[in-house]
Amino acid sequence: MPEHTRVLVIGSGPAGLTAAIYTARAQLRPIVIEGEPSSTTDQPGGQLMLTTDVENFPGFPEAISGPELMSRMREQAARFGADLRVEKVHRLDVAKRPFRAWLSGDEEASITADAVILATGARSLMLNVPGEERYLSHGLSTCATCDGFFFRGQDIAVVGGGDSALEEALFLTRFATSVTVIHRRDSLRASKIMQERAFAHEKIRFEWNTEVTEVFGDDKVMGLKVRDTVSGEDRVQLVTGVFVAIGHVPNTTLVTGQVELHDHGYVRTGPGSFTNVEGLFAAGDVQDDIYRQAITSAGSGCVAAIDAERWLEAQGM
Ligand code: NAP
Repeated sequence: MPEHTRVLVIGSGPAGLTAAIYTARAQLRPIVIEGEPSSTTDQPGGQLMLTTDVENFPGFPEAISGPELMSRMREQAARFGADLRVEKVHRLDVAKRPFRAWLSGDEEASITADAVILATGARSLMLNVPGEERYLSHGLSTCATCDGFFFRGQDIAVVGGGDSALEEALFLTRFATSVTVIHRRDSLRASKIMQERAFAHEKIRFEWNTEVTEVFGDDKVMGLKVRDTVSGEDRVQLVTGVFVAIGHVPNTTLVTGQVELHDHGYVRTGPGSFTNVEGLFAAGDVQDDIYRQAITSAGSGCVAAIDAERWLEAQGM
């Protein structure tokens, strides 16, 4: 017989752990499948594990490191009785209830659940060039809202040509001395209005037809090696900060084909955290392509926990 739980939380970023805290405090004894250390972009604790200082999470005026914040959330969830497991769900069946999740490692091991809170997050697309992983959080970032403040008075680069890249570039002009947008083509994918704003900004300049081939530095970023995609010429771009803004992908593999997604591939939710599958709730970046902040993610984890709790009660479960 598979093990049964009333609430299964999949994911251990701010959304998953907040959902765990709330459902645990509601005496639902959630099982939380945290994920397994695997790649830099998909691991227990989520994207905050890749962040150094978090200065915008309310309650920490002196800042807190991403891993420390996640460790505290984890401790808080455990304190109230959440059953946290460093494992990965490799298959999820939400076609019939109780839902069923199969765990990695043991093909036979599965857990059935009355309700599932999906909080598997999203990951930033990365350039996959030498130095990128090494300098992540040491001058290289994927979130201007999170890290822009650390780049006051610096010359920085933003890689990408979509709305995200221009939004990041415009935001970064508040701190940086100059912002160079590096784009692999000679025209932008971003909306016209964002283009106009970026072109009009005195601190923003563009490097067209340019791809990044390496991020280099000492203990922090010192520059980029770039290549002209037309002439093939290599050169160096001296910057002390790099923002990679080439898009995000939500981690929806477990539910693809089973739940309604938005055009961009994010899980469609609403009202609250309800998906179109009864008993399946989604929280955090897997369903949010707009705000993507630790605090909004934690907030949506709380919403999912309360939705799940009330839904279970209404079902008499
Ligand atoms: P996006 O529209 O897919 O743009 C990604 C950009 O990164 C493209 O310019 C692409 O180049 C470039 N790129 C992709 N892979 C690359 C690589 N390996 N190396 C170098 N460059 C690479 O993604 P997004 O900007 O994150 O936007 C996603 C969606 O959210 C869009 O619909 C966007 O409108 C929306 N959004 C809206 C706002 C807003 O309205 N304020 C803000 C952010 C996002 P190519 O152009 O050559 O393909």
